[in-house]
Amino acid sequence: MVLLRVLASSRDAATQPGAPIFPYINQSNQLLIVSLLMAMQTLVTGKVQYTDKTVLELRVDKHLGKLRSCDTLWLGYILTYDDGSSETRMVPNLCKQRDCDHEPCMELRMSAEYEKVKILISSFRRDQVSHVTLTFGKNQVLDKHTLTRMKRLVKLFFRQIQYTRTYKAVIVYELKRQPNGLYHCHCHIALERSPHLDVIVRKWNKINGEKTRVDVIYNTSKMALIRYFARRLAFAGVGVPIGDYVLSMKGRQLMNTYGISRREITRAMISAAELSSSLVGTRNNCTKKTLVSTLFLGTMPKARGETIPPPLSEWDDFC
Ligand SMILES: [Zn+2]
Repeated sequence: MVLLRVLASSRDAATQPGAPIFPYINQSNQLLIVSLLMAMQTLVTGKVQYTDKTVLELRVDKHLGKLRSCDTLWLGYILTYDDGSSETRMVPNLCKQRDCDHEPCMELRMSAEYEKVKILISSFRRDQVSHVTLTFGKNQVLDKHTLTRMKRLVKLFFRQIQYTRTYKAVIVYELKRQPNGLYHCHCHIALERSPHLDVIVRKWNKINGEKTRVDVIYNTSKMALIRYFARRLAFAGVGVPIGDYVLSMKGRQLMNTYGISRREITRAMISAAELSSSLVGTRNNCTKKTLVSTLFLGTMPKARGETIPPPLSEWDDFC
């Protein structure tokens, strides 16, 4: 009862701005109490729409900051090797965001994703693989659960087809923007061996509760598919409005696997991480990587990537 009465008075306050609620408490404390009460009200009445929007806007701002600073700084690393020797390396601060369209950043992402997918698909024993495309019904508006829903349906699908045997698979989820602003949600699956087309269509339609499009290409080239998958992963957000990207794709895994050993997955992740750190070509017996400093070169460069690394002598002050 007490809580309800307090809430009621805070509602009154919202309708009459400026009216003192607790006349015996000073103004700054009153503000504090009102904001606490509003927070409680949000919890009790479930009005979280406003809070959600603010969080998204903050995330968009942060993401924009990352995109803008892509390739504008140099990062200095000291790499210490097994034999006690060490070297200083400088790498550009590429943002590695999947929607960044800065050329060197795109190249780096592509090579890292390519390496990852190659290790996973190379674990398939046959030289040729099956490429299955599953769609998720009509084109739709994205929300923050779109990807989760897609993954859940694919999980159900694999649970059903793996009833008799284990299928090795690498799955890439794609949210493809259409000219009308809606998204064509689908996934590409590389299968070591594929079930019969009829089985795939029947199970997939049953899971979706409606007829959805299914494409199957048997015996496709492994290398071509690896490249195709890597492109999907590296450029997933290019051309997608930033709000949609941050809401539904940023920070999410756009790939998962079935039937592939944990060891292979770890190996793929490690080599992709090594590649995407931009420290390509460093000896692999590196025991310690220390970020010593970031160096901003005078004023903002005219175009991204136009800066050249500072001479090593300048870095001595930081090391
Ligand atoms: Zn970038």
